[in-house]
Amino acid sequence: MNASYPPASAAPRIAVIGGGITGLAAAHRLHELLPRAEVALFEAGPRVGGVLDTAHLDGFLVERSADNFLTRLPQAVALCRRVGLADELLSTDETRRRAFVVKNGQLVPIPDGFFLMSPRKLGPLLGSNVLSVPGKLRLLAETFVPRGPASKELNPEPRTLNPPDESVASFARRRLGNETFERLVQPLVAGIYTADPEKLSMAATMPEFLAQERDHGSLLRARRRAGRFRDQSDDSSGARYSLFAAPKDGMASLVQALVARISPSAIHLNAPIESVRQMSDGRWQLDFGFRISDFGLAEGSFNPQSRVPSGCRNPQSAFDALILAVPAYAAAELLRRHDPTLATELATIEYAGCAVVSLAFQRNQIGHALDGFGFVVPQVERRRIIAASFASQKFPGRAPEGAALIRVFIGGALQPELLDLPDHELRQLALDELRDLLQITGEPLLTDIARWPRSMPQYHVGHLDRIARIEELAARHPTLALAGNAYRGVGIPQCIASAESAAERLATPITP
Ligand SMILES: Cc1cc2nc3c(=O)[nH]c(=O)nc-3n(C[C@H](O)[C@H](O)[C@H](O)COP(=O)(O)OP(=O)(O)OC[C@H]3O[C@@H](n4cnc5c(N)ncnc54)[C@H](O)[C@@H]3O)c2cc1C
Repeated sequence: MNASYPPASAAPRIAVIGGGITGLAAAHRLHELLPRAEVALFEAGPRVGGVLDTAHLDGFLVERSADNFLTRLPQAVALCRRVGLADELLSTDETRRRAFVVKNGQLVPIPDGFFLMSPRKLGPLLGSNVLSVPGKLRLLAETFVPRGPASKELNPEPRTLNPPDESVASFARRRLGNETFERLVQPLVAGIYTADPEKLSMAATMPEFLAQERDHGSLLRARRRAGRFRDQSDDSSGARYSLFAAPKDGMASLVQALVARISPSAIHLNAPIESVRQMSDGRWQLDFGFRISDFGLAEGSFNPQSRVPSGCRNPQSAFDALILAVPAYAAAELLRRHDPTLATELATIEYAGCAVVSLAFQRNQIGHALDGFGFVVPQVERRRIIAASFASQKFPGRAPEGAALIRVFIGGALQPELLDLPDHELRQLALDELRDLLQITGEPLLTDIARWPRSMPQYHVGHLDRIARIEELAARHPTLALAGNAYRGVGIPQCIASAESAAERLATPITP
């Protein structure tokens, strides 16, 4: 880089590529930190939000992907506060705070306090029929299982960037036994990561359990020492629903609040970027993926018809800094010509997709009590859905009085072929499964189908080493930042964290 950054003479011009929650949160943070900066956000599609998409259909509020976020990580709640949504946040309904797992075609409650891999209470687990007696005994024997390779003290030669890794399946089978893995861990993990646990990295997704094994020699012992078996306040099961929140009017209200703060005229829709390169003066040039003759036809604005980035009428327009808030494979394409080594590393991050089929019924069409937030399906049950969420039971206002809304998740890394089914087959598949599992009669009042191909990055074993290499290569470009769900967490709070740290880095002056 030849010049100092930001330029002393003028307000810096910063481009954000990608209009999902990551790109919006990055542009918002830049706006907070550098109010004089000229920030332009380019989104390939006709709307912002990326996978976040809320539909209001016949009195139902349908979330087409994420429907809540963790509150234990502060970033999403903090952002909601800053954009004026604090009073709009809903908590999950405490009276229904439990989840089910399918066993032999029936919905069985996940034992109270079972959290992904670790029973926080032994009583409910021992009393539950999710596991057989030998399965429970094997789980109790966890205390005697020796430490595994991933949690042994570190002193490897040659030195690796991160602790040795292990797959979730290997760790869970080794510590808890095959039955606990197949009946509880696999479906719970698949419900969150849409991933193959045989490949999923422990270090990247559940480092707290690796730390418990390392520090206490056992997950059960770690819990006992923490005094959590007796914790009466912690009676959630499965995913920790008590720790989740959502805006009253859905995720779209967070997206809209961000757009309003960033200034709609800074956002350019239908504006795919094809590649980026850094010029000799250190500024970044964007190559737009649409015809140059499209420039100058209309004013650039938050307008689906507009392809004209205001302030960028000249396609030669250059930016002082750049945030790539796109999936890793898209970032790889953008950087292919400028930094092939970084692009190659980014392209190795695999993705899975899934479909969300939302079905609404009159409450009296459903035989099941829906006395929980949903269910997960173990692979050993050989069904064609990953999980279902009882959306109208989780948050108020999702369905009209007397009706219920259920979201069914299909595909993921283990059944990718199902994403290619035509809509009518996906609908029928979801309906057949729900009819069987929830004793549903009649036809749904409403069906909505959303497909999210290549939307979920797969944090395979070795992911943290790969990310360390990517960060090292990206650091050679001080005015370029990578952000999004590909790197250090797939949830909304982690996306916001990566967006804000990218913006904070670019708000810090650099002297050549
Ligand atoms: C079905 C589903 C359910 C989920 N549920 C939850 C949940 O309940 N809670 C939770 O916390 N998380 C959940 N997640 C995860 C979370 O929603 C996502 O990780 C997060 O929204 C990703 O945001 P993002 O901005 O990084 O990426 P995206 O939303 O993928 O946005 C990237 C954007 O970049 C654009 N783009 C790509 N290439 C270019 C280019 N060349 N030029 C311009 N634009 C480009 C794309 O069009 C897209 O709009 C869920 C995800 C899915 C798919």
